[in-house]
Amino acid sequence: MTPHPPTAPSADLPDGLHIDPIPAFQDNYIWTLARGGRAVVVDPGDAAPVLRALLQRDLTLDAIVVTHHHADHVGGVAALLQERAVPVHGPAQTPYTGVTHPLAAGDVVSLLGYPFRVLAVPGHTLDHIAYWSPELAVLFCGDTLFAAGCGRLFEGSPAQMHASLSRLAALPAATRVYCTHEYTLGNLRFARAVEPGNLALQQRQSAAIAQRERGEPTVPSSIALEQATNPFLRCAEESVRQAARPLLGAAPADDPVAVFAAIRAWKDRF
Ligand SMILES: [Zn+2]
Repeated sequence: MTPHPPTAPSADLPDGLHIDPIPAFQDNYIWTLARGGRAVVVDPGDAAPVLRALLQRDLTLDAIVVTHHHADHVGGVAALLQERAVPVHGPAQTPYTGVTHPLAAGDVVSLLGYPFRVLAVPGHTLDHIAYWSPELAVLFCGDTLFAAGCGRLFEGSPAQMHASLSRLAALPAATRVYCTHEYTLGNLRFARAVEPGNLALQQRQSAAIAQRERGEPTVPSSIALEQATNPFLRCAEESVRQAARPLLGAAPADDPVAVFAAIRAWKDRF
C-alpha cells in the first residue's frame, strides 16, 4: 500500500492574520506575524530586511520575539529598537542581554492578541524556547525542529534535545511549524540516507525540490509531515533504529536517545 503523504497545511489562518518569511543572510527566515497594520517579528538577526519589509507592507512593529541567543536570531534587535521601542520577548535564562520581557516554560505571551504558550526546548542551546499557539495551530521553534531535520547540539545533550523534539512532536498534528532556516533540501538528502524506503519522504523530497525550483520557501511544515518524514522524530521506528545500529557501539538500539545521538552525530559529518 502506498501511504498518502501528509502535506504541509496551507496558510488558512484567521481572516486578516498573515505569517510571512523575510529572508535574511544566506538561509535564515525572520517570520512576521501581522494583522491590522501591526506586526511581530520572530528572531530578527538582521534589522535591514525587517525595516524594508515593514515599510513595504506599511506595518508598525508591535513586538519582537526571540527563541535563543545566537547572533543570527538577535543581531538586528538593537537597530529595530532604535526605530521604535517595543517589548523584546525572550528566554529568562539567556546569555543575551536584550530581553525586556523574560519568559519561562509555561508562561503565556500575547502576540497581536493571540496567546502563545512558551515551551522550553533546550538542546541546540540551553536557553532555547519555542512559542506555540494552540488557537492558531502555529509553532515558532527557532533552531530546534527544522523541516526534515533538527538543530545542531551546540550546548545541550542528546537527551535534552531528544526530549525537546519529543515535546514538539506531541503537539497537534495540524500544527504549522515555522522554523528559521531553509535547510530542507540538505535535510531531506540526509533523511533519505537514513530511511531510503520511506515513501512519504521520497514524495516530500520531490515536492521540496519543485518548491525550491519555483523559488518558494519549503516552510512552514507541519507536525504531521515531520512525524512522517523527519528521522530525528522517528528514533523509535525500526527503519531508523536499523540505520543507526552500525553507529551505536555498545548502546542499545531500542534506546531512542542513543539512536538520536547516533544519527545526529552522523548528520554532523554527512
Ligand atoms: Zn541557533
